[in-house]
Amino acid sequence: MAKTADLESREFQTEAKQLLHLMIHSLYTHKEVFVRELISNASDALDKLRFESLTDKEIMGKDTTLDIHIKLDKKAKIFTISDNGIGMSREEVVENIGTIARSGSKALLEKMSDKEKLDSNLIGQFGVGFYSVFMVASKVKLVTKRAGDQGPATVWESDGENAYAIGETQKPGRGTEITVYLKEEEAEYAEDWKIKSIVKKYSDFIAFPIYLPDDKGKEEIINETKPIWKREPADVTDDQYEVFYKHSLNGFEKPLKIIHKKAEGLLEYSYLMFIPEKAPFDLFNFERKHGVKLYVKRVFIMDDCKELLPEYLRFIKGVVDSEDLPLNVSRETLQQNPIVEKMKKNLVGKVVGALKELSDTRPDEYKKFWTQFGAVLKEGIHSDYENKDKLLEIVRFQSSNAATAEEVTSLKQYVERMRTDQKDIYYIAGESRDIVEKSPHLEVFRDKGIEVLYLVDPIDEFIVHDIYNFDGKQLKSVTQGDLDLGELGKEEKEEKEKAESSYKKLTERIKNILGDEVKEVRVTTRLKDSPCCLVAEDGGMSAHMEKIMKSMGQTVNPTKRIMEINAEHSILRNMNRLYEKDPKDTQLEEWVKLLYDQAIVSEGQVPKDPLAYAQRVNELLVRISSACVKD
Ligand code: ADP
Repeated sequence: MAKTADLESREFQTEAKQLLHLMIHSLYTHKEVFVRELISNASDALDKLRFESLTDKEIMGKDTTLDIHIKLDKKAKIFTISDNGIGMSREEVVENIGTIARSGSKALLEKMSDKEKLDSNLIGQFGVGFYSVFMVASKVKLVTKRAGDQGPATVWESDGENAYAIGETQKPGRGTEITVYLKEEEAEYAEDWKIKSIVKKYSDFIAFPIYLPDDKGKEEIINETKPIWKREPADVTDDQYEVFYKHSLNGFEKPLKIIHKKAEGLLEYSYLMFIPEKAPFDLFNFERKHGVKLYVKRVFIMDDCKELLPEYLRFIKGVVDSEDLPLNVSRETLQQNPIVEKMKKNLVGKVVGALKELSDTRPDEYKKFWTQFGAVLKEGIHSDYENKDKLLEIVRFQSSNAATAEEVTSLKQYVERMRTDQKDIYYIAGESRDIVEKSPHLEVFRDKGIEVLYLVDPIDEFIVHDIYNFDGKQLKSVTQGDLDLGELGKEEKEEKEKAESSYKKLTERIKNILGDEVKEVRVTTRLKDSPCCLVAEDGGMSAHMEKIMKSMGQTVNPTKRIMEINAEHSILRNMNRLYEKDPKDTQLEEWVKLLYDQAIVSEGQVPKDPLAYAQRVNELLVRISSACVKD
């Protein structure tokens, strides 16, 4: 190694210091992951170089064989890894190695500080892989030269405590060499059997050859260099898939389902996609990147290729490797590329098909998937018209048929359970299961044993209009329009007609009292136990939808709603009698206002004047309590 010039000492950024401290002083279950992290950094550096060489022909020079070399010195307890990848300039070293740039690292720090053992899988996830080397090292030296740079190389050294030293040095070729001086008790990482087994376990899928000298000093390749997605599915073990998923795609836990195939025919491409079991913390962050890794003829092109999968499948992780795309594709040219269009169509079909299969063959696991990703998948009903019918087979909703939120139902299952004389599919939309379950609107449905879907995801009310009908049956809100239960409501219809005439005057009086607050007051058959409720006009915006729109910052003109009264309820009967005695009785006014506010409260909303509402309730309580104690 060439002589190093004077080194400048610098402190690590505070966050980096904290992280290093935890890395070094906490207990780890899998210290060996540092090997994986260094190999994966080397492989990324080689990918980056290959990618730059597509546009910069000079960058490779004569050194066109890209590989990784590991050397071990058992006696001196030294592990060395080198690559002839992209390398780093001095500024890049300071930026990449001296600081933690990614926002997720903070979250990791918080996770770590709760004294739990750090899950080694999280290291790569949060972009702090390099630091894992300090779990085993007393000192680390990194020498690197950016491809294309003519000047000196950069040397960086640290014991991982508070500071690092940085300076200039000489290095013949481009790339990075990292020398790890192992701690006394970590000497086994200078043993070749150990390194070979770690490579087998974690890095076998790396697309570049990893060399290690054998007993006689002859370098041999210790990994299988054919990328995992290019292999026959029968030749890949579950463990290998899992390792690739976790370490190359930053997946959590075990994947729920693996889709690994090769498309042949007009277009040729391989793909390996994973349906995760758990949602990432930022699934609903609009700026979140998504998409698969795109390769062209085994050359890495880009991460997060969202042109190949729609936003509603943003939870899918994977790799797509095309034989047909030109190597110089860019994000811009991908957008109108007909090859990409065709691949996307097929990939979406494959994912949706895999989900359908999962729902048919492993319904319990599908339920797990649904609780994590259901709300995202539903976006597809709105945005992917082409696959709408297929998506309708796999969407799930909560329902009055089930006792818990977890037991979701498909539309098909709902239809199978429908009463023979039932024409439509009924739903109620609202903020939560708790609220909709208690809604007065459901009373008649419960009474007649008609199932109602609970649409309690904010997106539900939007997509319900996209669904419109399923299997020839219309989706109807139980809180909208004049309830027409068809044959099911024959008896009630007759009763209603009778009540309408005997309550005619009272309904007019109520409308008078409420004035512009409501559009209309009418007798209903949908209530059994409650005195009244509010409904939207047919085709009008529901109260829940209004609330959602408002929360999204939209200005909504509140639509007037219709107050429906239950003629069978004793409050209404008494009111009717009171009205007949004295149409001007002022008590009627108080009660009507109270009933109206109550209807609002029962929908989980707040009355316009909560204080006035409370006062009216109190007045009643005073009267009742006085009556109770009066003998
Ligand atoms: P991550 O690889 O997840 O970004 P690391 O802490 O492992 O996080 O590495 C930080 C950064 O340092 C990398 O993103 C990369 O830019 C740079 N780096 C690390 N190792 C190498 C290498 N062998 N060659 C070039 N750059 C490297």
